[in-house]
Amino acid sequence: MAIVGAGLAGLSCARRLREQGCLVRLFDKSGAPGGRMATRHGEGWQCDHGAQYFTVRDPDFQQEVARWIAAGRAAAWPVRPAVLGGGGLRRAAGAEKDAPALVRYVGTPSMRAAAEGLAADLPVSFHATITALERDGQGWRLHSREQGADLVTGDSDRFDAVVLALPAPQAQALAAPHSALLARRADAAAMHPCWALMLRYDLPPALPFEAAFVNSGPLRWIARDSAKPGRGGVETWLLHAESGWSSEHRDSDAQAVAAELLAAFSAWGAPAPAAWTAHRWLYAQTEAGDASRHAWDPGLRLGLAGDWLAGGRVEGAWLSGRALADSVAASCSQPPADRP
Ligand SMILES: Cc1cc2nc3c(=O)[nH]c(=O)nc-3n(C[C@H](O)[C@H](O)[C@H](O)COP(=O)(O)OP(=O)(O)OC[C@H]3O[C@@H](n4cnc5c(N)ncnc54)[C@H](O)[C@@H]3O)c2cc1C
Repeated sequence: MAIVGAGLAGLSCARRLREQGCLVRLFDKSGAPGGRMATRHGEGWQCDHGAQYFTVRDPDFQQEVARWIAAGRAAAWPVRPAVLGGGGLRRAAGAEKDAPALVRYVGTPSMRAAAEGLAADLPVSFHATITALERDGQGWRLHSREQGADLVTGDSDRFDAVVLALPAPQAQALAAPHSALLARRADAAAMHPCWALMLRYDLPPALPFEAAFVNSGPLRWIARDSAKPGRGGVETWLLHAESGWSSEHRDSDAQAVAAELLAAFSAWGAPAPAAWTAHRWLYAQTEAGDASRHAWDPGLRLGLAGDWLAGGRVEGAWLSGRALADSVAASCSQPPADRP
């Protein structure tokens, strides 16, 4: 089975299928696993610029996170974010609906670490951007941009099934030529962009918070990234822009975006950074909508998984991949040794 996307949904799907004896192979356009659970590395610095932390509600995900913690790949982040805007600064406790019971976790030593652990012994082809799926009577072939017109093929020249573990618009584009129904499901999911700004300082800024939700202006979230568990080195802060503002500035240049976000940060007392790096996420937030966790067409043997099918978070992505695996495992191909 081919899984397109080695973010958390693709990885959890792959691991679950492997547990059940299925042959899997993953493809990802980037150079590392984790997708939007991402960390940017520069000279002497690192910064989580996608998912900032994750929370746990589902008991199966709780067990998974316990394994990550035991392996040193995740830890609780004992931060108590401030809430900025609408009358100044206050603490988040009591301000968020679920604050008293909320534990925030991060990957250690970077957000990507948990995904790297999941991917460690899985066959993943990186730098493989899948541009089209092709189906004939014997199964599926995948086209990869990096291999020109060549086809990426499975061990037996075809894949018996394909899972698209991608943000909804990317899944839509690949599914549309084969399934109007799956394409419509993906088309109905609204995903919004987010500008991220990674800041480096020579000295820690004197601010009365290490993380903050922001309720006014272009910023939505501020975090002292270098104070998360397992980090160190260069003083690093991360700013996320609000999703409406990011949509309006989707095609603005990074310099203009950075100028506005830095001005908003300085209004909360922050000094100018020594250096910054901007990143635009095209598909960050998902509007709550489709909560069916996965989609699977048993006739075509084509499936969809991803956070957008399960609440739009890290936990949802993991649950979605796993739910899809449980739907398809009964009919997947198995390694020759396992065949009767
Ligand atoms: C700015 C931002 C902040 C966030 N904050 C939080 C947070 O604080 N807490 C939280 O729980 N969640 C947060 N999230 C959401 C969280 O990151 C996602 O819910 C989760 O990581 C999604 O996992 P996924 O596997 O569904 O998708 P992804 O992680 O997007 O994985 C998809 C993978 O597919 C690959 N890919 C895409 N197209 C192709 C193609 N054509 N061919 C091959 N590979 C392809 C990508 O490279 C990627 O690796 C945030 C996301 C962003 C962007």
